[in-house]
Amino acid sequence: MLILVLNCGSSSIKFRLYDMKDETQLASGLVERIGSDDAIFSYKTYKFEGSKDTLSIKNHSIGLSVILNKLTSEDVGVIKDVSEIDSVGHRVVHGGEKFSTSILINQEVIDEIEKSIPLAPLHNPPNLSGILACKEVMPNTPQVAVFDTAFHHTLPDYAFIYPLPYELYESDKIRKYGFHGISHRYVSLEAAKMMGKKLDELKIITCHLGNGASMAAIKNGKSIDTSMGFTPLEGLMMGTRCGSVDPAIVFYLMRTKNLTVDQVDNLFNKKSGLLGISGISNDARDVVAAAKSGDYRAKLALQIFAYRVKHYIGAYAAAMGGLDTIVMTAGIGENTEQIRELALSDLEFLGVKLDKNRNNTDLKKSREISADESKVKVFVIFTNEEIMIARDTKEILDRIN
Ligand code: AMP
Repeated sequence: MLILVLNCGSSSIKFRLYDMKDETQLASGLVERIGSDDAIFSYKTYKFEGSKDTLSIKNHSIGLSVILNKLTSEDVGVIKDVSEIDSVGHRVVHGGEKFSTSILINQEVIDEIEKSIPLAPLHNPPNLSGILACKEVMPNTPQVAVFDTAFHHTLPDYAFIYPLPYELYESDKIRKYGFHGISHRYVSLEAAKMMGKKLDELKIITCHLGNGASMAAIKNGKSIDTSMGFTPLEGLMMGTRCGSVDPAIVFYLMRTKNLTVDQVDNLFNKKSGLLGISGISNDARDVVAAAKSGDYRAKLALQIFAYRVKHYIGAYAAAMGGLDTIVMTAGIGENTEQIRELALSDLEFLGVKLDKNRNNTDLKKSREISADESKVKVFVIFTNEEIMIARDTKEILDRIN
């Protein structure tokens, strides 16, 4: 069974084509700068090192056609005809309250995703464009939506409802949704595998630390709390996002600095986080380099980032009534040993003991980084949201066929 996985952004389409017989990745690539005359199309396959072309791509439908033409091309293609693709799996950021699992896409699902646009105005419209492009270009191929919010549907009401007037939850569905669910789910499954245990007997904290960052408390395989909220702004410090701050800072800035709503939005989402504190970059690599050369604000940025991770580790261990495993994943979690060390130090009271040597040895693969005597196992696990989407898509196809 061949499954095409698509992750559509406002001006991009990331794709991977899998042969689900053995989960081989046949081809992958990225279309960037959709909407312009100099869009960039990168492409590689299991037998072709790769190409990068600049061409005019006006919209997602044209972007998808360009991808399909390449996948079926004589010289570097991996299939003969588009009809060989059994299904397309889409990453959809926001499923609202409606979708608690992945689902076969029909008109009703499209309408619901559209209804969720006010909840994710930056993400759901391009996700929808990808779905509509597939409907247009490959109308007979079943499509599946895999939601980033779905995994967190198991949060109890006392964890997902904010202490605002209850009517706001009823009328506007203002509540914690949580994001990065596909990644939290994938790495928790991998962690259980690496421990040789069943997921449903473990208490796991997963730390997805990338440019966007969130953590989840996963008890017996179910997410019971997560740090992102109504939007991906809540929780941890991120590349350019502030994470949780006193909401009264919004009123203060608007009243005393005369900032508009959009200006505060921009300040919190684009100018804060690692970038805002360091004044150097949102990229952890630049901040680590500056901290190493003694820059005070860069060091502070790393400390704040790590302190917030530690803060949630304590909170989630308490929420789950114990802790077996911590997983570090995504760009920073997988690669930045300085932040891992800061976040995981002095946690022996919780049963967490890092092995500094394991933590500092960059093996470019998933591994344990806790000491042998650590009661809580700590892993670096390379996330793979695409394979999770492909697996869900296959499962749904298997069910309907
Ligand atoms: P993501 O959003 O998962 O792509 O992660 C992006 C973040 O990961 C950026 O802050 C990068 O600095 C960091 N990152 C990615 N690769 C590396 C690396 N090889 N070494 C250190 N940090 C990295």
